[in-house]
This record gives sequence, structure tokens and C-alpha cells, in this order.
Amino acid sequence: MIYLDNAATTKMCESAIETMTRYMRSTFGNPSSLYSIGQSAAEAIEDARSRIASHLGAESREIIFTSGGSEADNQAIISAAKAGEKKGKKHIVSTAFEHHAVLHTLKKLEREGFEVTLLDVHENGIVRVEELKGAIRPDTCLVTIMFANNEIGTLQPIEEIGKVCKERGVVFHTDAVQAVGHIRIDVKKLNIDMLSLSAHKFGGPKGTGVLYVRKGVQIIPLIEGGAQERNRRAGTENVPGIMGMAAALDEAMTSLEEKAEKEAELRDRLIAGISSVPHSILNGDAKKRLPGNVSFCFEGIEGESLLLLLDDKGICASSGSACTSGSLDPSHVLLAIGRVHDVAHGSLRLTLSPETTSDEVDYTIKAVKEVVEYLRNMSPVWRDLMEGKRTFIL
Ligand SMILES: *Cc1c(COP(=O)(O)O)cnc(C)c1O
Repeated sequence: MIYLDNAATTKMCESAIETMTRYMRSTFGNPSSLYSIGQSAAEAIEDARSRIASHLGAESREIIFTSGGSEADNQAIISAAKAGEKKGKKHIVSTAFEHHAVLHTLKKLEREGFEVTLLDVHENGIVRVEELKGAIRPDTCLVTIMFANNEIGTLQPIEEIGKVCKERGVVFHTDAVQAVGHIRIDVKKLNIDMLSLSAHKFGGPKGTGVLYVRKGVQIIPLIEGGAQERNRRAGTENVPGIMGMAAALDEAMTSLEEKAEKEAELRDRLIAGISSVPHSILNGDAKKRLPGNVSFCFEGIEGESLLLLLDDKGICASSGSACTSGSLDPSHVLLAIGRVHDVAHGSLRLTLSPETTSDEVDYTIKAVKEVVEYLRNMSPVWRDLMEGKRTFIL
């Protein structure tokens, strides 16, 4: 099996599995209990907190453990909105291609009377800082812009965005779920006030994540019930999950640059190979993208059939996002970069890991070419295109 869906989730690394097993078997105490097996668990998660903090350039007390990226996004946005509301500030700036954990939370706030401006991400999948400057108003309480897009992998100008938000006194949150563990991030240098991450996107377990909240930025709990996480997130800590996440991040950050460079080389080889398919297009900027992301649209193809046939050839791929598969609506991300519906339906996302090999890449290029040709040969839409009864978009 060739696993090329690492943006959906990653295989857990051995050190995370080994660490978690240890905390499930032996140090199973409740961190709030006073006897030693509880206190050992409490000490362990404080050690994990400080290691995770240091990978981000943050302080331990600025790290809140959550159930994952979605919860972190929800808490960041709701907190900034409620803090803004108290000062009469009810305007939020974001982008059209955020993850649904962000977009659906913003929709909920709109129903509560907040106003949301979604910035255009243009054909290259990157926001323009000039447009952000124009969108921020005196009543803006939050800017939330993702670090890297989960479907097309494009990297946003986070440092410039952070600078603008700092100058204008607006809280800046970034959903960095796709970036953490893949790109080196220093929250202080980038002027990030809040950042979401999720363990299962970098070799850790599912159901565990972090919200980083800069000291002094107001945060409210979404879950009530206990004093855990300094009263910011109630509930008995997921000790094995937290320990597995810290182990996975330690491993991901080791030789990060070398791994990313190798991954980017294979990414570019995959892009070059698939680009030779006629009437296809790469989604998102060719260079300002995650080292492991490849995203294409093919004209005259149904993405779902493409995935099934690739699965027959032993390749795990995605049409763009795990959340939209099974639904007939085309991806909001692909629509946001200007792909028309017919083209957006023929999408393919291949996301690499540091373990991906050049043989796997070469096999995948060959498989994609064969499958696209096979599907086009039996497609009535393709026949119409070839006979000139329809015009090509790509
Ligand atoms: C996966 C993902 C999330 C959700 O994280 P979970 O831990 O699965 O809840 C949020 N944002 C982005 C960009 C993601 O890729």
C-alpha cells in the first residue's frame, strides 16, 4: 500500500505508540489525584507541555491541551469574539478557504450578530496582505487565517499578517494544523496570538491537540466542569494522548529541514510527472506550498472514480478533504481559487510523508496517468470535448 493521504491523518510514529502504551499500562493515575501515581502523570504532562511549548517558541503556561484541531479552532475564535463583543467590536476577518472548524464557527457567530469579512485567496491560493490591511476596521476583534491550507497546501504570509495585526491591535489566530511538525514555527517571531495544532497530523494520536494562547490574550472555556488547564479547559487530561503528541512532535522536529527538503523534492517530481497529463492543472502556488502537498484538477474526470481506481492500484489518495468526500458539493477551497464546478469535481490530492520513497512517487505518476486516461476514454463528457461539442476549460 502506498499511503499518500497524510493531510487527512498520519501513521503514528513508533515513539508515540511506545510512549502511549507506557502511560496506559503504568502511569494511569488521574493527574489531579494527590498520591504518587497521579502526581507522576501530572509531572509527565507538564514535561510534555514544556517540550511542546519550546518547539513553538512559547511558554508552558501558554499551552492548552484540547481534543484536537477542531476544538482549538472553536475555542480560539469564540474567545476572541466574546472578548471583542464586550468592547463593542463584532467584526472578524478570515479567508474563504479555511477549514470548516473555522468557517462553521464563524457562521455561528454571524447568526449571533457578528460580521465576517472573508478575504479572497486568488488563483494562487494566497491572501494579499494589502487586502487584509483594507479589511481591518476599528471594530475588528479577530483575524483568523490558516498557516497552510489542508487541500492545496499553500502557505500564507503569516509573518506579515502577524505584523499588521500587531500594529492594528487586533488578535491574530492561525489554524496551523497542517503546518506544525512540517515547518518550523516561532509564535513570538511571527506575532501569533493564538495557534491551533493537532497531533494526528504529525505522527501523533487522533483526538489530541493544542491551543497556544499568548499570555494576556483573553480565553474562555468551551467545556466547563473542572479546574484543569488553569480553568481554561475542563475534563481529565488525556494523559496517553498528550504524551504521544509530545513524543511525535519531538520526532517531527528532529532534522525537520532535511526531511522537508527531501519531501519537497519528491513533491516536485510528482508535480512534474502529473503535469504531463493533458488538460490538467496544479492547484495552488507551485513553490509557496507545504513540502508534502500535491493537488491537481483534471478536466472530464470525476474525482471519486479516480480515487476508487487508485485504491485498486494500492494508492490511498484524496479528492481534497476528508470532510467533503461523500458529498456532491465541490470543495469550497477549489471554488475559492476560482475553479469552476466541473473542474473542481475532478480533483486529486496526494500528500507525502518523510517516509515516502521515489519508487512510490514514480509508481503513482504512472498510475494516475493510466487511470485518468481510462476514465476519460469511457466518459461521454470527454467524448463531447474531443468532438468539439463542448469547449475545454483547462
Ligand atoms: C485536520 C484539520 C483540522 C481538524 O483537526 P482535528 O484534530 O481533526 O479536529 C483543522 N484544521 C485543519 C487545517 C486541518 O487540517
